[in-house]
Amino acid sequence: MLTPLMESRFHPLMVALQKSPFWSERFKEHGEGIRSGTFADVPYLNKAEILANQAKAGPYGTIPSVPSDQIVRVHQSSGTSGTPLVWGDTAGDWTRLLDQWDELFAIAKISGTDRFFFPFSFGPFLGFWSAFEAVARSGRFCLAGGGLTSLARLRFIEAHHISVVLTTPSYANHLAELALKNGMDLVNGPVRKLILAGEPGASMPAVKARLEASWGAVVLDHHGMTEVGPVSMECPLAKGELHLLDDWYRIEIFPLPCRLRVGEGNGGEELESELVLTSYSRRGMPLVRYRTGDRVRMTDGPCLCGRIGPRLQGGILGRLDDMMIVRGNNVYPNAIEDWLWSHPEVIDFQGKLLEEGSLSRLILTLELSGPRASWSEKARVLARSFADRFLFHAEMETVEIGTLPKTEHKSRRWIRGN
Ligand SMILES: [Zn+2]
Repeated sequence: MLTPLMESRFHPLMVALQKSPFWSERFKEHGEGIRSGTFADVPYLNKAEILANQAKAGPYGTIPSVPSDQIVRVHQSSGTSGTPLVWGDTAGDWTRLLDQWDELFAIAKISGTDRFFFPFSFGPFLGFWSAFEAVARSGRFCLAGGGLTSLARLRFIEAHHISVVLTTPSYANHLAELALKNGMDLVNGPVRKLILAGEPGASMPAVKARLEASWGAVVLDHHGMTEVGPVSMECPLAKGELHLLDDWYRIEIFPLPCRLRVGEGNGGEELESELVLTSYSRRGMPLVRYRTGDRVRMTDGPCLCGRIGPRLQGGILGRLDDMMIVRGNNVYPNAIEDWLWSHPEVIDFQGKLLEEGSLSRLILTLELSGPRASWSEKARVLARSFADRFLFHAEMETVEIGTLPKTEHKSRRWIRGN
């Protein structure tokens, strides 16, 4: 049932959909759901359909509901898994995206005096552009750290008394390592919150524990997508639970087919689904029943913070297209990442999945702490423990600290090849 607030956002979306050639065509055969506002008979949309449309009909495809001169902001996905999606916004859409961030910051219990730092170069993806502009609009301090070395960014944090840093889990980890190496004391520094996105990680217990200890700050997970907008924020009072902006999105879940589930023997896997979103805020390029490809576990009921409505347990559990099959075992990379980060001797890693005929090999390249002479024994112990945990064998290699690529954006931790 729509609340009056949702209703006031839903109707302009309906008007927009009727002006979009893409959606008009789609609703020809499935009109009842749109007319009644239930969308019940509207087919789910996936990324491949949008990419095919944009490949045929220009950068925005036939999705826009407005003439192209009304699209004043354009972003594109990072394209880590193929061709990037292009998404445009009208001035009104953009304002509403900033409103969504205001709500996310309220969930994160951001104060009026918090001082924000964005330690990366701003690319074409929506990422933190909308967050930055929402902070700027609110009158809070905000600083962009593009074009700087990581060390210079750490000095900015101290010099400008930064209390909130927005970045990816990998880069937050890299900054913490670098601070330690350079004798900088992050734990007693000014940062009190890290808002992390771009990769699953901040909700993984081992990753969160490591980052909270090394920064002396609360780690909050956030997720959003270029084609969708900002969607969720972890509750500071309920670790690992992300509140969804259910006033801004129609939220549905799509049950996962059996082959995409990962059994853990406790029946919990049945609760995993794919997140499906309809955005009420973006009317220049509307999106209805979009299958995000994100694996989630949903819950609702009252939260400790008093907010009601749906929450993601454990954030984004992984991308459906990330699943690996290694020697007959279904495994998602983030399960391996969380396991690796729970070992303090692991400083960084990269995973490589090699397909050789019908066989596949998983190779984990590790940067380990301690003297070089101890690495091979540590790697052997890790390999044994890995086989106990995941029921298949992974090869472990060690490299010098600093060998693996460090990036301020989504890391390239996983490589597939043959
Ligand atoms: Zn809460």
